[in-house]
Amino acid sequence: MDVKRARSRYIYRFGQGQAEGDGSMREELGGKGAALAEMTMLGLPVPPGFTISTSACRFYLEHGTMPESLDDELESALEWLELEQAQRLGSDKDPLLLSVRSGAPVSMPGMMDTILNVGINGSNIAGLAAKHQNMEFALDSYRRLLQMFGSVVLRIPKQAFDRASEDAKAVLNPSIDLTESTIRRTIASFHQVIEQISGSPFPMDPREQLRQAVAAVFESWNNERARHYRRIHKTAENSGTAVTVQAMVFGNYGLNSGTGVGFTRNPSTGENEMFAEFLPNAQGEDIVAGIRTPMPIAELERTMPEAYLKLLSVARKLEAHYRDVQDFEFTVQGGELFLLQTRSAKRSALARLRTAIEMAEENLISRTDAILRVSPADIEEVLSQQLELTDEDLQPIAQGLAASPGSAVGQLALTAERAVELAGKDKQAPIILVRQETTADDIHGMDAAVGFLTAHGGATSHAAVVARGMGKCCITGASGIFADEIAGVLHIGGHTLREGDWLSLDGSTGRVFLGQLRLQESEAFDNPYLTRLLFWARECSAIRVWANADTPQDAQRARDAGATGIGLCRTEHMFFAKDRLPQVRSMILASTLEERERALAALLPMQRADFEELFRAMAGLPVTIRLIDPPLHEFLPTELAARDELARARREEPQSVRRLQEVLTRVQQLSESNPMLGLRGCRLGIIHPEIIVMQITAILQAALRVDAEGIAVLPEIMLPLVACVEEVRHLRKLIEKTAANVFHQQGRRIGYRVGTMIELPRAAVCAGEIAQEVDFMSFGTNDLTQMTFGFSRDDAHKYLDTYLSLGILKHNPFLTIDREGVGSLIEFAIRKAIAANPAIKLGICGEHGGDPASIAFFEEIGLDYISCSPARIPIAQLSAAHTSLARVLLESRQEGAQCA
Ligand code: ADP
Ligand code: MG
Ligand code: MG
Repeated sequence: MDVKRARSRYIYRFGQGQAEGDGSMREELGGKGAALAEMTMLGLPVPPGFTISTSACRFYLEHGTMPESLDDELESALEWLELEQAQRLGSDKDPLLLSVRSGAPVSMPGMMDTILNVGINGSNIAGLAAKHQNMEFALDSYRRLLQMFGSVVLRIPKQAFDRASEDAKAVLNPSIDLTESTIRRTIASFHQVIEQISGSPFPMDPREQLRQAVAAVFESWNNERARHYRRIHKTAENSGTAVTVQAMVFGNYGLNSGTGVGFTRNPSTGENEMFAEFLPNAQGEDIVAGIRTPMPIAELERTMPEAYLKLLSVARKLEAHYRDVQDFEFTVQGGELFLLQTRSAKRSALARLRTAIEMAEENLISRTDAILRVSPADIEEVLSQQLELTDEDLQPIAQGLAASPGSAVGQLALTAERAVELAGKDKQAPIILVRQETTADDIHGMDAAVGFLTAHGGATSHAAVVARGMGKCCITGASGIFADEIAGVLHIGGHTLREGDWLSLDGSTGRVFLGQLRLQESEAFDNPYLTRLLFWARECSAIRVWANADTPQDAQRARDAGATGIGLCRTEHMFFAKDRLPQVRSMILASTLEERERALAALLPMQRADFEELFRAMAGLPVTIRLIDPPLHEFLPTELAARDELARARREEPQSVRRLQEVLTRVQQLSESNPMLGLRGCRLGIIHPEIIVMQITAILQAALRVDAEGIAVLPEIMLPLVACVEEVRHLRKLIEKTAANVFHQQGRRIGYRVGTMIELPRAAVCAGEIAQEVDFMSFGTNDLTQMTFGFSRDDAHKYLDTYLSLGILKHNPFLTIDREGVGSLIEFAIRKAIAANPAIKLGICGEHGGDPASIAFFEEIGLDYISCSPARIPIAQLSAAHTSLARVLLESRQEGAQCA
């Protein structure tokens, strides 16, 4: 091809099954022009035409004139189109009519302008009418041209035309009963408007109409609307628009004509059924502008069954070719179907999920494509309930951190007890628990509630972590609210609410609304498409996804969602249950070892029963049980509560004064000024070995029992908050001795593994030594982040916002792993660990296990598994697959490059 000619080429034709451009030329032809060329080559019924490239637009916008060679190109393209259509532009008998359409490389629906019916003038109206034997149609087309040309090219305000129409109502309702004389009067007054407002008459020369229309479409690139759209969508400012000039087809031809828009599948549900709307006797812009309400496509099926069947087959062809759901525009002229546009359809997260899966099953796309077409954010949206926010005037009464997605509508409760009470038996009433902050003591109330709102706290505070674990909606850090549990009122956004009042939470944005808004149901875990997606995702993920699950119910949920193991079971959560707490307290309050052992003996069967159920739920899969971790005072009342209780007993219950005095003393003894760095984690087990002995006994007895039922049990015992290898050696000995005892008593053995959490920087640095003593290591990234940064998980939100806005931190390290610091520490640790113990299994069990960006990092550095809350498993599984697929793709590309 002649290079010079190629460079100055501005026009690309399409027609008769052939085209000079194709679908890959979006940059030059715009999305619309490229798709019209592509559809033409597919043999679809597209009116012929040509596209003037975006480079002409850029030239025009820069120089204020058209490029010199464009005139000649335009003239010869017009001649070609006239031959194609056997019509002439400006002919009095059978004039060629054109549409002049905008089309940018990135679709900007409805932002720029299109002019239809270019080529009509006063002298060819009669010829047009005679050719089609339809005067009304000819006049209606002329009226439309005057109006569109007037507003787009001459920039006359639309209202001027509305006012001018003799019968504005009739014009707004351009149905067949318009009489000829009304339209004629309208046309006359449109001419007047144009002349009065623009200062010159409507151009009667069709070539002049075309030239002006093309220039106007170029200029529409810079109209307010389009600029605004590009700002919002961060679209390039300088690409310009292409202009497609196309032979008109007429939907305003009478009742056997019309225009419509459609989707090859339902864009909100994804159902594989064409979804389209149709407007009889109308031209395209009637639907687009929303002047008339379209009818369901059944109307086309009823009135023009042949055109309908053709449309169905066109829709199938489009999908087979584009291998994606299409959004198309069509027109029927005298029963004959024409395609005017197609593009990839925007759709809901639900529809994205369903169409990806079904298209893979129809072999339209590969499973890999299907997995890549759904994003973790889609899953998040699919799984969360949403508030129906139809009333745009509705203002939130408070705003906090979107800590756990989904939505909740319920009645206010200010304490855990009231939440349980108000929820009633079987949790019939939906409750929103509002607290200054939540603590482990509130678990039962949180269990009874549907959503939580706290004045304090960040994205990894207690309320947030628990909420995500439970799959409930949660807003934290709603500063300015005051939950006054003593007075029983909530001060929020100038309102004073009482328990039982209604609140609505939008967990995806952190907004709180007054009253009982409606909830839109979302299909949760039982979405069959999600199940299939996750199954495929699992097959191509290098990293395994496990769950943090504390109860048999959580474990079951996790397994249903596809978890292949439990990476963290926090045994102490079992201690908080109502029936256990008294036993736990007497264990802590015991003044002699004997007394403590008695209390522990009472706890043993309870823990054993929990573990049995857990093992059954996870049959055949590893279950990692972490030994007791929190400081003991968390199980006791606060000092204030203990004092109150004592004071009350002095007045009313003298017989319990002594016991309560002891409680208070013990509470005071156990109080630490820095409990998170205090007597907790493995230190607790070293100081109070009897607790560990009880827990190990419970785990192994449970394992033996379930094993005896013929169920495969894989217990993994994990030590929390280890700092040095000697702690591990010490406790491992204790565990082995206890195990030997249990096995001896039962006369049977069972395999188990011992591992440690790595959540202190020292442990990470000494990972090589520690690795020699254990079978697995699990990075507890919440605490490791807290300890590495020296940021308190519960209070850091007070300065994190400022840090983020100042750019001191790029993201919240409690949400997305800090690659440079904490991440490097983890990388260092795993290198040392693998060198020292090649068989070691490595995982993570922090909140980061559910965060897509962090998951990508964990899979890059070669961890074996990530463990996250059951509710995050689908998101984690999909993210894991995306990362693995991206790596495989990159590797194959690099290989390709090496071969070449
Ligand atoms: P937008 O990008 O705003 O959708 P279009 O260029 O697609 O603008 O034009 C708007 C409407 O005009 C289309 O929906 C279509 O129905 C109608 N239209 C465009 N070109 C033609 C044509 N050649 N014949 C008939 N109608 C047309
Ligand atoms: Mg369109
Ligand atoms: Mg920890």
